[in-house]
Amino acid sequence: MRVCVEAEESGAESAGPRCLAVKRERPKSKDRPPEFSPKPGSSKITPPATLEHYRAAMLLSGVGDAIGYRSGSWEFNQSGPAIQRELKELGGLKKIKVELPDWPVSDDTVLHLATAEGLATGKTGEELLHDVAARYVEAMKDMDERAPGNATILGVSQLRPGEEGGYRVAYNPRGTGCGAAMRSMCIGLRYPKPDQLDTLVSVAVETGRMTHPHPTAKSFVKERGHAVEETERDWDFFCDKWQWYLDLRGISNGVGPVVWPSSYGPAERDKVYNSFNPWGWGGSSGHDAPMIALDALLAAGSDWEELMSRAAFHGGDNDSTAVIACCCWGLLYGTQGVPKGNYSHLEYRDRLKKSAELLYALSHREAAVLTTSFAGVESWEADGGGRNTEELRRKEIINQSHIIIV
Ligand SMILES: [Mg+2]
Repeated sequence: MRVCVEAEESGAESAGPRCLAVKRERPKSKDRPPEFSPKPGSSKITPPATLEHYRAAMLLSGVGDAIGYRSGSWEFNQSGPAIQRELKELGGLKKIKVELPDWPVSDDTVLHLATAEGLATGKTGEELLHDVAARYVEAMKDMDERAPGNATILGVSQLRPGEEGGYRVAYNPRGTGCGAAMRSMCIGLRYPKPDQLDTLVSVAVETGRMTHPHPTAKSFVKERGHAVEETERDWDFFCDKWQWYLDLRGISNGVGPVVWPSSYGPAERDKVYNSFNPWGWGGSSGHDAPMIALDALLAAGSDWEELMSRAAFHGGDNDSTAVIACCCWGLLYGTQGVPKGNYSHLEYRDRLKKSAELLYALSHREAAVLTTSFAGVESWEADGGGRNTEELRRKEIINQSHIIIV
């Protein structure tokens, strides 16, 4: 996140979307993603997520972060082809054993864990927000060599958990980084049901704007009466850019098929990803880190290596795009096809899995009772979760990406 933060520090105003024209032609090369054309409402037949998928989501989010980060050398390498050459020299993704000291998690996972462990307490309302704020304060003590962003550092320094209103900070118009997005995936794990949407929005907005302004969910912000004027001023950019992306990929209608550039290898992806971002560093803002993650998820299907190629091995803010994409991928596919060396010795592995178990228990109370105290921890890794109905997964992704803008 550091380059993005430098832009924030410079005080430069957003130049707005800087979009490259991307031809809507069928890909000709091996970079062509699989074809599919889901029908409206297809997500209704998607099998539910299981405890195994919750574990995989949290665990693989940390894996994507650690690999994308590579102790800073890959996060701040702005050439996807160069990163992919270095990956080849390492023997490819299969050869990477993610463990300390060479592959620490970065700020993304430390803060994602803070959000997750706060939610896992089962607290609600303001009690939850104070708890999460306290965990963000504590998390900043664990940032040596993890490259936190300045917007996050500034925001957390203003938090006063335990004091009245101490989970809110002043609106920061320069806080355009992806720090709120990269730590938010677990909120969806806690509140996955349609009738929990209001709570999900509430927690996402309030925890997000502890460090970054949140020009979304305008009606909610109006209702709460905090930073309403500023939110309205910055409102259009997020929705306009997301509408542009959904149009670009042909999925505004929630149906597809997805439209891809004629050539979309590592070099082309760097250019396109950077076009998503006003600062020219793809994934470094709150709107486009999830955008790149979605792009990778749509193209990769159940192929872990392909997902990492697109979400982690590019020249943008790749630890943050990977932490988001890999969390979603784990929820969709478990750990199927993921080399054990990628996750077996991941830093904070136990905390990630424990928080997943607690989030699952809270969000699926009846199912959790039947899961016999989360027994068989290793067996889930052996079978990869077993929810590999790839076409359904793709349909669900398109459907949900449509919902984002609706
Ligand atoms: Mg990071």
